Amino acid sequence: MKLFIPGPIQVSDKTFEAFCRPMIGHRSGDFKKLYGGIQPRLQQLFQTTQPVFLSTSSAWGVMEGAIRNLAGTGKVLNCMCGAFSDKWLDVSRRCGKEAVGLQVEWGQPIRGEQVREQLKQGGFDVVTVIHNETSTGVMSPIAEIAAVVAEFPEVRLVVDSVSSFSVLPLPMDELGIDVLLTGSQKALAMPPGLALFAASKRAMERAAEVKGRGYYFDFIEFQKNQLEDMTPSTPSISHIYALESKLDDIFTEGVAARHARHEHTNAMVHEWVKRNGFEFFAPEGYRSKSLTCVANNRGIDVAGFLGKLKERHGFIIDGGYGKLKGKTFRISNMGDETPADIAELLAALDDSLLS
Ligand SMILES: *Cc1c(COP(=O)(O)O)cnc(C)c1O
Repeated sequence: MKLFIPGPIQVSDKTFEAFCRPMIGHRSGDFKKLYGGIQPRLQQLFQTTQPVFLSTSSAWGVMEGAIRNLAGTGKVLNCMCGAFSDKWLDVSRRCGKEAVGLQVEWGQPIRGEQVREQLKQGGFDVVTVIHNETSTGVMSPIAEIAAVVAEFPEVRLVVDSVSSFSVLPLPMDELGIDVLLTGSQKALAMPPGLALFAASKRAMERAAEVKGRGYYFDFIEFQKNQLEDMTPSTPSISHIYALESKLDDIFTEGVAARHARHEHTNAMVHEWVKRNGFEFFAPEGYRSKSLTCVANNRGIDVAGFLGKLKERHGFIIDGGYGKLKGKTFRISNMGDETPADIAELLAALDDSLLS
């Protein structure tokens, strides 16, 4: 079986081999060498001069942590356009924050003007945005949104790039993103269980003043330990080995070539969609580069289609997230997939569409 769902995605044998290397102490010199050794390449990928922190948790740990570290007594604005971004409002409230949802219809992007209208009300500490909403295949215009947030100097911008990280350029420092976070099992094609994030100086200054940060996701703890090339608590060392191996892959291919490969494989899927008379769930100009959410305008039996794909070809794609089940299906081109892999998948999709 091969996974083409938008996370977790297929993990290469090479990555798994790295994951299974013998254990070392997390306060040992070997660990510090491992941790310190990957920092420069992580910073290059994050396009930041800030340290990149490693959290042994899934992305939600840091998504919750960002709220607890950056929202003091002010409000949180959660931009909502799909399952993951909608959930963030609930998470903010569970952290005891006063949170406001900027909700747009599923399938639509978040626009800068809408963010400005909300922030103009005043009293906000934080805005959360999901760059690539995995449930709907929508990519929101992050540069446009970041420019608007910059008009409000007291507001910190938190961006989730779980399904877009390393797929296309996302210049954290240049855009003025305060927290950029991602997870291991999607765009990075590693096993689930690790989250990566970087925080701006402004974000760290805010965190230092905020009460109730807790311990496990306290950004200040991460910063302190970072000075010695360590994490606050025992990390999943296996993930860090896998990450080192993945960085070797990424920099061997070349970051620009990796971006170009995703652009190309994404265009191949788009061609398939058009050729087969399907429509896109996301509007033109706001479509994800790492997955395609296909609208089932033809009214096919999605479950039957996916069943055939799995039985005949051993490929698994996703039949639509939550309320979009059966109304859409999603095809991932994240991670290591080459044009040849995607061509093979598309041929299998063709075959499975026939009775
Ligand atoms: C999958 C996903 C998450 C949640 O990740 P977990 O690893 O389950 O915590 C958050 N944001 C986006 C955009 C995702 O695709």
